[in-house]
Amino acid sequence: MKKKLIVIGSGFAGLSAATFMARAGWQVTVLEKHATPGGRARQLKEAGFVFDMGPSWYWMPDVFERYFASFGKKVSDYYSLSRLDPSYRIYWQNDHTDLPASLDSLRSIFENWEPGSSRKLDRFLSEAAFKYKAGMQKLVFKPGRSLLEFADWDLLKGLFRLDVLSSMQHHVRKYFQHPRIRQILEFPVLFLGALPENTPALYSLMNYADLVGGTWYPQGGIYSVVTGMHTLAEELGVGFRFNENVTGIAVSASSARRVITEQQEYEADVVIGGADYHFIENRLLPPSHRSYTEHWWQERLMAPSCLLYYIGLNKKLHNIRHHSLFFDTPFHQHAQQIYTTREWPSDPLFYVSATSVSDNTVAPPGCENLFFLVPVAAGLQGDDEHLRDRYFQRILQRFEQHTGQSIADAIICKRSFGCSDFVHDYNSFKGNAYGLANTLRQTAIWKPSCRSRKVKNLFYTGQLTVPGPGVPPSLISGEVVAREVLRYF
Ligand SMILES: Cc1cc2nc3c(=O)[nH]c(=O)nc-3n(C[C@H](O)[C@H](O)[C@H](O)COP(=O)(O)OP(=O)(O)OC[C@H]3O[C@@H](n4cnc5c(N)ncnc54)[C@H](O)[C@@H]3O)c2cc1C
Repeated sequence: MKKKLIVIGSGFAGLSAATFMARAGWQVTVLEKHATPGGRARQLKEAGFVFDMGPSWYWMPDVFERYFASFGKKVSDYYSLSRLDPSYRIYWQNDHTDLPASLDSLRSIFENWEPGSSRKLDRFLSEAAFKYKAGMQKLVFKPGRSLLEFADWDLLKGLFRLDVLSSMQHHVRKYFQHPRIRQILEFPVLFLGALPENTPALYSLMNYADLVGGTWYPQGGIYSVVTGMHTLAEELGVGFRFNENVTGIAVSASSARRVITEQQEYEADVVIGGADYHFIENRLLPPSHRSYTEHWWQERLMAPSCLLYYIGLNKKLHNIRHHSLFFDTPFHQHAQQIYTTREWPSDPLFYVSATSVSDNTVAPPGCENLFFLVPVAAGLQGDDEHLRDRYFQRILQRFEQHTGQSIADAIICKRSFGCSDFVHDYNSFKGNAYGLANTLRQTAIWKPSCRSRKVKNLFYTGQLTVPGPGVPPSLISGEVVAREVLRYF
């Protein structure tokens, strides 16, 4: 008889873990509280508009290709992908820059700002390429359960080049003087939920992902990746139970025996928790079976939460890009308000995705689909309609000013999503959007472990455990935890 695995949650990590375990011959059932898979990457459909609710940047295409290849498939078997050019636009205080897909064109832009910087960029990127390759081959697929995992001769030889002990900020500033170049090279680590000064320079591998690997778009939106993984899972025989809210895990003799939902109970030989780690520990397990104390959790540095707005317009805009970063206000103040003072930001940076620029299936003809994201500190209270509207008016004004066209009078669809929704919809600890900040002290063996220390057959996957936040790491997380399960069961 096949061994039974229950996976809690059908986000990218839960889907990935489920597929790897089904491939290994297990009977896999995924329990998901929502009506559809995808978790933070769910889809919102309204008035003919189709919004990706969470992730919108598709980086590291090799990770997705590798994932599907593990099952003898290709990305193109499930969705079609195109590279965006320009990759994205940055609005500065008084003008903007389009970041081209071509490295030669990027070199010219850098050279214009800072003579000599194009040669430095080549050196910077060849270091970043080394880190990316070493990271992929030697680091991210480790379960992070013991330092011995990293006792690898090639890794130790390259340790100095991996720049684990210096900060991203220091690393970038060693090479470049111009503030715009610095900001372009420091921005990708914001995806990791920490400041460049607190992020190990190892993560300049993200610059390789950005500037060499490129920014891609799956037709239909990021949700096409969810659909692809869900289809693959069903092809492998994974069973899905949607609208199944898990309310407890029954443990006896240090083993999880049953997973309890609002409707029924499911027997399990092994459980993989793909929902928010803190929620599983603190809400689904009895106190005696928790690996970490509430005090320990309170000491963690969380990646930001965010305010999100899904906006449909009854007209097309001119001269806008698929991805736009608004770096038109001082970064430092906003960063302080996210990580240090942890208050509502006074003048936040924000990001806009306009998928309808590249895809005519996500908005009605002649209409535009806009997604606004304002990063804010995790754990903030009071994101009521009034506060959300106040922030929306402010960023809207800046958007209109920079793009030189009015949109307020063209809005025919509007939804918002805030910290309290992250808690309500995803049981997210402090309403975090991207999990834990990737600081050195919260990396690898210092992350919440992918195997429970108290319950032998309980494992974890997802953005709060190894390797960390983001869609590609979540895919990897599912594979890593499946391997751990198969080592012991
Ligand atoms: C706004 C936003 C923008 C982002 N942008 C990007 C981006 O551009 N590129 C990128 O790579 N990454 C991005 N990320 C990060 C990326 O989306 C996440 O790291 C990733 O989706 C996390 O996947 P996960 O499987 O770990 O968690 P989740 O997606 O949260 O999945 C957990 C699942 O568990 C379910 N669940 C929770 N509680 C229960 C319960 N009690 N019973 C049953 N099921 C339950 C949830 O409904 C959910 O489906 C973004 C995230 C957000 C929020």
